[in-house]
Amino acid sequence: MALTLSCRDLGEDCHYVARGETEEELMADADKHAKEAHGFTDEQLKDPEMRKQIKAAIKKE
Ligand SMILES: [Zn+2]
Repeated sequence: MALTLSCRDLGEDCHYVARGETEEELMADADKHAKEAHGFTDEQLKDPEMRKQIKAAIKKE
């Protein structure tokens, strides 16, 4: 089983799907993508509201 997070589910017009075996792995992948592809800053990504939105969009496969 893996965890996935579709960038599209966070309102971005983007086909990227972050993956990880654990939530930590998944978030590391998602954070890296958000910074590289969408110009998010660490401050934006650490925002509790943002964290909540991201966690709500995580799917188990
Ligand atoms: Zn994206």
